Amino acid sequence: MSKFLNTETALIHGGISIDERTGAVNVPIYQTSTYKQDGLGKMRGYEYSRTGNPTREALEKLIAELEGGYAGFAFASGMAALTAVLSLLKSGDRVLISSNVYGGTFRLLDKVFNHFSINYTIADTADTSVYETQITDDVKAVIIESPANPLMTVTDIKAVAEISHKHGLLVIVDNTFMTPYLQKPLELGADIVVHSATKYLGGHSDVVSGLAVVNSQEPAEKIAFIQNSTGGVLAPFDSFLLIRGIKTLAVRMDRHVYNAEKTAEFLSNHKAVKNVYYPGLENSQGYETNKRQAKNGGAMISFELNENYDIEKFFESLELVSLAESLGGVESLVCHPSTMTHASITADIRKKVGITDGLIRLSVGIENIDDILSDIAQAVEKAEIK
Ligand SMILES: *Cc1c(COP(=O)(O)O)cnc(C)c1O
Repeated sequence: MSKFLNTETALIHGGISIDERTGAVNVPIYQTSTYKQDGLGKMRGYEYSRTGNPTREALEKLIAELEGGYAGFAFASGMAALTAVLSLLKSGDRVLISSNVYGGTFRLLDKVFNHFSINYTIADTADTSVYETQITDDVKAVIIESPANPLMTVTDIKAVAEISHKHGLLVIVDNTFMTPYLQKPLELGADIVVHSATKYLGGHSDVVSGLAVVNSQEPAEKIAFIQNSTGGVLAPFDSFLLIRGIKTLAVRMDRHVYNAEKTAEFLSNHKAVKNVYYPGLENSQGYETNKRQAKNGGAMISFELNENYDIEKFFESLELVSLAESLGGVESLVCHPSTMTHASITADIRKKVGITDGLIRLSVGIENIDDILSDIAQAVEKAEIK
């Protein structure tokens, strides 16, 4: 539990926020690989920077506090964080994954962990009655994204955690899209939270990083051991950048969400748009569940244009909004999931889970909303097939 009452304050003052030695209001970048020992076995708390580094430690304490967890761990990317967490499993174990998780998470299980006989099943975590039937004896963990990428499918985290715990599963939630400012999965019953901190937590599209937070001592000791053994740690400078980004998370998210709500409304009322996927829209799948477990619908929107619009032309015509992988930065980004973020998922599976070739994913930035909307409007207009 945070020693601060509100997340906005903990974002700025949580973890280790002041340099004890000098009073510097920012944690210095301890750019060192090793530490002088005062004698044999006489360390001053640090021995080697893969094992521990004061800048990384400040970040790790901060994210643990923000997620309301026991301990936090910083990695060189979101995928490195997921790799460390999945390394808790053994060969023969099976993992359930939400039906539209991040493409890289799918690929990690499908193409890497399968070499070690760790299997996966794509599960319908959004439908709790179906979900329970998918838990076979070998299932040891579930990975949930809510809202899930790219159709913004909402899973009832508390309900899925309860069912999963009845069967002894480890409940892992990828909280990248929501951040601890909007949603706190550990409070909803999850055991582990992971982040691609590359996205909203960093917030400026200038650092690739990952975080994991666990809720008790036993998994904390295991992850610490795995982190040190496998070595995918976050560098001191990148740890500093992340701490810096996190300080402004609340104000950035407030603007991201304000802009996303306006954009979702605009798209919903546009004649060129067939479907809008945004958990903040009242008629969207999981609206009530999301409202219960998260502060709002976040700032990620997917949509499809009607058949008489050329999406390639749409992407080419955007001037302010960039066509790029990634999300969660201050700038608005648009992407084409079927050929970009979700290309590692086979066409068959994409079709089954509803990721159509016409789907467009938009990470709504914090620019002036009028500028975002007029850019989308002019690109849609140019994309019309006449
Ligand atoms: C980007 C992303 C990841 C992977 O994180 P990296 O930092 O790119 O390694 C994992 N999960 C989600 C939901 C993401 O958006």
